[in-house]
Amino acid sequence: MSFFRPLISLFLVCIAVLVVSCSDGNVKAPTYSAETITRIQLASAGVEKIKERLPELESYIDKQDWNNIRSFIHGPLGDLRTRLVGISKELLPADRTKSLELGKEIFGHLNKIDTAAADNNQAIAATNYTEALKDLAAFNDLLPELPKATAVETPSAETAEASESTMKAPGSMM
Ligand code: ZN
Repeated sequence: MSFFRPLISLFLVCIAVLVVSCSDGNVKAPTYSAETITRIQLASAGVEKIKERLPELESYIDKQDWNNIRSFIHGPLGDLRTRLVGISKELLPADRTKSLELGKEIFGHLNKIDTAAADNNQAIAATNYTEALKDLAAFNDLLPELPKATAVETPSAETAEASESTMKAPGSMM
């Protein structure tokens, strides 16, 4: 027994070293689960649709179209903040704090555009539009790398047919 004991402890040390070195990467950096990535992707697709319409707001500011500026902010942009908060909640703690701050910032800029429109102040509206875009870009930088948007959509009939024919191809050659 006394002969084996040192060997056993050496063995245990080896295992401990192995376990620590293997888990090293996983323990240090928390990562996103596939489910979370999917939820973030779905939520950010909604935000992307809103972002695509932002040039409309820019053109209203250019034209000093005060009424449309205000109805755009309360209409299409109305639930932007809720959507951003929804995404923030899915992020890793360190990024969540930053993204919630950016969400607040963006909301603040939209409010200032709204007030500027009420005051017929194009310069303030334009400045806050630019700031909102910057903050949206910074928000986007906090998101994990997302698979291409098309991956989430259900495959079209054409795609399904194409993959079916590629699957059949090896069989027909035999
Ligand atoms: Zn800002």
